[in-house]
Amino acid sequence: MERRDAWTDPGAFEVEPGIHRIPLPLPQDGLKAVNVYAIVSDDDLVLIDGGWALDAARSRLEEALATLDRTPADITRFLVTHAHRDHYTQAVAIRREFGTRVEIGVGERDSLESLSSPGAISLTGQFQVLETCGAQELLERLRAAGFSRRIPNENWELPDVWIEDRAEIDLGVRSLTAVHTPGHTRGHLVFADEAEGIMFAGDHVLPHITPSIGFEKAPGTLPLSSYLDSLATVRKMPDMRLLPAHGPVTASVHERVDELVAHHDARLNATRSAVVAGSGTAYETARALTWTRREHRFDDLDPFNQMLATMETAAHLDVLVAQGRLSAADDDGVTIYAVGAE
Ligand SMILES: [Zn+2]
Repeated sequence: MERRDAWTDPGAFEVEPGIHRIPLPLPQDGLKAVNVYAIVSDDDLVLIDGGWALDAARSRLEEALATLDRTPADITRFLVTHAHRDHYTQAVAIRREFGTRVEIGVGERDSLESLSSPGAISLTGQFQVLETCGAQELLERLRAAGFSRRIPNENWELPDVWIEDRAEIDLGVRSLTAVHTPGHTRGHLVFADEAEGIMFAGDHVLPHITPSIGFEKAPGTLPLSSYLDSLATVRKMPDMRLLPAHGPVTASVHERVDELVAHHDARLNATRSAVVAGSGTAYETARALTWTRREHRFDDLDPFNQMLATMETAAHLDVLVAQGRLSAADDDGVTIYAVGAE
């Protein structure tokens, strides 16, 4: 049987005529790699996503492009699915050297303007959310672990082009439609080639994992509702091959969307049950649930993943409130969830 992480092996893998999947390394243990896709033609070299600006990722990209007789200087354009550092920052670093054009969805503007302003501080927005989740104890552990330090924002710059929803992007050899799919981030885009039946799905639809929701500098309201609506958006389009940013290429976007919808339905029910059983804050609820497909206990996650888990729980709780299945009340800046009035 093929290793589950075989997709992270280095190289340039042709997944469609003229489209090469290039996995680039990431520094964390959890997600081992990010796929960038090179669309190669005589005149152009377009990259879907850029990777994280790390020396290891840069040399891996150079090695992969060399097998296609190209170098980073040949890249004409980056189409970036969303403003997370594992997708965006290497595009900016390469632009600085070669003047490459960088494009991203217009919905990422608030987050990128905030991230690229001088003195941006890591995770301030997320820390504010954790306060409302009643996660003071986790916040203290995150601060002790150094997560509140200022980050150098050298690879957070604005793009050359803000892409609008449903923009048609003519690449000569093929044409892509940019489809706004908010949820993972506010301005996330997928790029669909309906004529050829392929979708560059970014982190919206991932084959092995469920993407985090609303983890960004300037989150919108009810990001999980947006995410579920965006799953419906791509489910209404014709089915296509799934070219994800993390994980192997698979045959069907629809099949995975159906699994993700079922997962979130089950998760909403489990989240409500935890409140019925007595959890009040998002933090308490997160601790009452199990995590990842291996059903880890919350306390066995590292602080960063506990933060993601707490925020994801808050997202589910807020959807349950919007659906009228729970109520929410403010207690001195902390949101307390309850089963509706009896
Ligand atoms: Zn990602």
